[in-house]
This record gives sequence, C-alpha cells and structure tokens, in this order.
Amino acid sequence: WAKAEGRGRWAVYDPERSAADIARSALAAGLPAALDRGEFVLHYQPIVSLLDGTMLAVEALVRWQHPELGLIGPDRFIGLAEETGLIVRLGAWVLRQACRDAEGWRRAYPEAGLVVSVNLAARQADDPAIVDTVAEALTRTGLPAELLQLELTESAVMGTAGEPLRSLHELAGLGVRLAIDDFGTGYSNLAYLRRLPIHCLKLAGPFVEGIRADGADVAADHRDERIVDALVRLAHALELWVTAEAVETEVQAERLRALRCDTGQGRWFGAPVPADRIRARLAGEERP
Ligand code: C2E
Ligand code: MG
Ligand code: MG
Ligand code: MG
Repeated sequence: WAKAEGRGRWAVYDPERSAADIARSALAAGLPAALDRGEFVLHYQPIVSLLDGTMLAVEALVRWQHPELGLIGPDRFIGLAEETGLIVRLGAWVLRQACRDAEGWRRAYPEAGLVVSVNLAARQADDPAIVDTVAEALTRTGLPAELLQLELTESAVMGTAGEPLRSLHELAGLGVRLAIDDFGTGYSNLAYLRRLPIHCLKLAGPFVEGIRADGADVAADHRDERIVDALVRLAHALELWVTAEAVETEVQAERLRALRCDTGQGRWFGAPVPADRIRARLAGEERP
C-alpha cells in the first residue's frame, strides 16, 4: 500500500490503487519542481468594510498554473504539500510574494493602508522557523508589519500538542495581525482565546450561507443568523474585528451589517483576482 511505504517514494504497480490515488501521487510528485519553475501564482480577494464599502485588506489565495492541467485551486494541492512537508517552502514563497505585492500597492497608494492577509497551514505555523520566515519576508520586501495579517485555523492555533502555539506571541511581537480563519468550525477554547494575541475572527462560510432573503428557506428560526449574531458579539466582547467569509448576495451583506459585522469577503464584494486587478481597484477607489 503506497502510503505505508513512506512519503515521496514510488510504489510498485498495485492493481488495488485507484486512478484517483495515482493522480494524487503524480500531482504531489510534481509540486517541488513546480515551485522551482515558478508555476504558483497568487490571486487576491478584497476584504471590504461593511460600513462604507472600502477595501481594507486582501486575502492572498495561491493557485498552481499547471502546464497541462491549467489553473489548479489550493484545495487540490495544499493538503498534499502539507503531507509532503513542501508547505514550509511553498508557504515561505507565498509570504514573500504577498508582502512584495502589498509593498507595491503601499508605495502607489500609501493612504489606502491596504493589509494583505496570508494563510498559514498548521504544519507551517508549527515550524520553529516560522517567526524568522515572516520577519525575513517583511525586511526583504520593506512591508510594514502592521500591513500583514496571518490567518490560522483554530486547529493550527492549538498546535499538535493541544496547547496554543508559543510562536503566536512572537509573531504578534513582530507587529503583524493574527486572524482565526473559518471560525466556528473547529474547537476553540475560549479560555485560551481570550489570552491569545489575536486581532480578528473570520466567520466560516456555512454560517453566512444560512442567511437568505426568504426566511422560509432556512431553518424557520433563523438559526444561522442567530449564530452569526452571537459570534459577532463574542468577537466584540474580546475586542476583535470580525470578517464574514463567503458573502455572495446583497441580502447577506445587509444582514451582516445590521448584525454589526465589521468586514465582508466573498463574490458579492469581488472574486479572487490577479495582483494588477487589485491595483486597478485601488486606483478607482482613490479619492482626490
Ligand atoms: P480560506 O482561507 O477559507 O479562503 C476562502 C476561500 O473561499 C477561497 O477558496 C475563496 O476563493 C473562496 N471564496 C471566495 N468567495 C467566495 C464566495 O462568495 N462563496 C464561497 N462559498 N467561497 C468563496 P480557495 O481560493 O479555493 O482556497 C481554499 C482554501 O485553500 C483556503 O480557504 C485556504 O484554507 C487554502 N489556501 C489558499 N491559499 C493558501 C496559501 O497560500 N497557504 C495555505 N496554507 N492555504 C491556502
Ligand atoms: Mg476552492
Ligand atoms: Mg483564509
Ligand atoms: Mg476561511
């Protein structure tokens, strides 16, 4: 069985192996060379103020421009990169490229104060070198630390030892912002959460999805809306910002604003786009 034989080694032909399994291994095997050849690209998705619609931040989302398969989304290769350990090197590239792009936007539009938000995989956040990697990305690109936000899921924050990562305090000490991604889908320990140097909670898509125009369509008691209400109150009690993910409709944006959510991200405010489209949007938002 291929997996039991160890990572990154070719298994002998085994008729039991499914075609999907073989495709997965082939994709995984191609990752290191793809990184060396510069086949990864970052797209950026706006994070917008629900009060006045200004773009306050963008989230960096990695894609693989595969020579034969076309543009591949992260759901198909981030897990593989975590399994093989390549995530540490890929993640360092993402950090540097995102900081480089953000520094370019800052130079052109300093008054916009645009923050770039970068995802950290659990394995990457747990790596002892992560603080140096982040510090180096900042110094090499010149991006001020306060314009970088790092997104970690609840499980990444809690680390493999089941205790909050020590590096969180060192990362916060650099002056970067920390956000909990997909909040509400993991196992956050509130006792820890209140003591961690977190700046923002990102409410997971499924809660936002439950907010629809026709109340009849959802659970009759508007359960998701009440959960969002509770999570926003929790976040504000902890003096954290709240970003709602996966905002797809005007109704959702309106309801989230009424529930005092601070910022929103999703197709309603703009899909993930290449860096030059963010620059164009900054140009359009520029006020005389
Ligand atoms: P995430 O961090 O929760 O990112 C948000 C995902 O929601 C993105 O998927 C984004 O394209 C998608 N999305 C945007 N607008 C909408 C919408 O209106 N509705 C819905 N339902 N979804 C929307 P994407 O780009 O496929 O990324 C998937 C996941 O891959 C990300 O989830 C993140 O966990 C991971 N990822 C992406 N880039 C990186 C990276 O550079 N490093 C690491 N470690 N993980 C990454
Ligand atoms: Mg996807
Ligand atoms: Mg994210
Ligand atoms: Mg998310």
